[in-house]
Amino acid sequence: MDNRGVLAVISGFSGSGKGTLMKALLEKYDNYALSVSWTTRKPREGEEDGVSYFFRTQEEFDRHIEEDGFLEYARYVDHSYGTPKQYVFDQLDQGKDVLLEIEMQGALQVKEKYPDTVLIFVTPPNAEELKRRLVGRGTEDMETIKKRLARADEESKGMEQYDYLLVNDSIERCAEELHGVIMAAHARMGNHLELVNNIKEQMKQF
Ligand code: 5GP
Repeated sequence: MDNRGVLAVISGFSGSGKGTLMKALLEKYDNYALSVSWTTRKPREGEEDGVSYFFRTQEEFDRHIEEDGFLEYARYVDHSYGTPKQYVFDQLDQGKDVLLEIEMQGALQVKEKYPDTVLIFVTPPNAEELKRRLVGRGTEDMETIKKRLARADEESKGMEQYDYLLVNDSIERCAEELHGVIMAAHARMGNHLELVNNIKEQMKQF
């Protein structure tokens, strides 16, 4: 079907500013739907159930896996995270561009199942800046920060598997670049096969 939405996965190290980037994009444009994930981790201050995440127990999470309710799921620093399937499909069918802000294992699962997925990796300009942001935001204790930095080291090894890289040195500029990437994905030939067939039919009269 033409005019189906684009499925875009945005990954990046913890502290890369992905969350703020998503917020900037959603405020500026109305073609996006941000998928809200399930997680077994505890809410941080200010996080609301159903808005930031659906906060669930491990038992509830495991049951949802058995019911085949996730598009993908993965473990990240002591907790489970997963993307609920139905919401994503509904929004794509309605022509919305769906944003999944998920880590690397999940991103690669989605790409394997749906090869048209656009994989985008967001990074701060350098490692020091990452550490500075992670410590500065003060939402995690030092032990968790260390685990997240170790995970960043792991994830940096897989960055090349993504289609696009965005350097997040300015949120506004980065949001524009991200929007540009997703708009370009709309123009892909595979998204316009109905129109292509119509034009071919019309040309036969000449
Ligand atoms: P945080 O605990 O900082 O909110 O998220 C930790 C990591 O889990 C981030 O890299 C975030 O992108 C990722 N994440 C959030 N939701 C999901 C999800 O549904 N699936 C996967 N695979 N990763 C997720």
